[in-house]
Amino acid sequence: AVFARGSAGLERPAFFLQEGHFGNTMSSVLITGCNRGLGLELVRQLLLHPQAPSVLIATCRKPEDAHALQTLAKAHSQLYVLKLEVNDFSSYDAFAQTVKSIVGDKGLNVLINNAGILLQNHSSFSNCTVESLTDTYVTNTVGPIMLVKALRPLLKLAADSNADLPMGWSRAAIINMSSGLGSVGNNTLGSYFGYRESKAALNTATRSMSYELGPQNIFVLSMHPGWVQTDLGTSQAPLTVEQSISGMLAVFFSMKPEQHGAFLHWDGKEGIW
Ligand code: NDP
Repeated sequence: AVFARGSAGLERPAFFLQEGHFGNTMSSVLITGCNRGLGLELVRQLLLHPQAPSVLIATCRKPEDAHALQTLAKAHSQLYVLKLEVNDFSSYDAFAQTVKSIVGDKGLNVLINNAGILLQNHSSFSNCTVESLTDTYVTNTVGPIMLVKALRPLLKLAADSNADLPMGWSRAAIINMSSGLGSVGNNTLGSYFGYRESKAALNTATRSMSYELGPQNIFVLSMHPGWVQTDLGTSQAPLTVEQSISGMLAVFFSMKPEQHGAFLHWDGKEGIW
């Protein structure tokens, strides 16, 4: 086996994947949508974190154009850059096989469903279309659900091989990157058609998955990253990516089993459903 630091397809020394190479500290994290924005900053900060994962799989649509990620991969041997278009569901089986060949028998500890879209030009009631509503739902809701289905066996492997740990980040966890705009209770302004519904639906999926996957000791969480300065959040947002991600990492690394199925904000506060 198999896949390569830097991009899918290069050779990796066989010993790297052998049982025991990571001792008992093997941990793996997979994040979607990592070429820019919150995903890229998550990768940056996780690589520098005192509890950095031994394997970090960063996905993006075009690895060949993801220059910041590729530069990071050259400096950090645990970073793998894999191609994933989240709307290409026919690629999921092969993608899961690739992930399996990287993480091996210890499975995948954490999946962060981060990739998402907000179609600004189509988000008012008058401008939204069948296509804008459907595309947003497919990317923001269907993608995360189907990716959890595809990677569930690997998450279960991690949950089973860390049976001595409590449910959470170190054992097996799914983080669905939601949004405060997905809150029904806090929706006092309207607009953001497509986006709000897709994130409300994602929150519902988080709660449902918590019942489905909890018995397998897989922790599930919806996160609101705050309003953040990215292409999606725009430069008017109050938070920098650094602030949002360092806040969220503090939340991830201190997750408690009783937060399974919760909706949390980047600073640890409870979200309103
Ligand atoms: P950006 O627009 O900066 O980045 C979005 C990322 O998602 C890009 O890497 C993009 O890849 C990827 N992506 C979009 N569609 C697909 C797809 N079909 N397949 C694969 N990758 C895809 O957004 P943010 O970093 O701000 O957002 C990250 C997450 O955080 C999203 O889920 C968003 O809804 C959520 N969020 C963000 C907030 C903010 O204020 N920024 C607030 C609340 C939630 P590509 O470059 O190829 O398009």
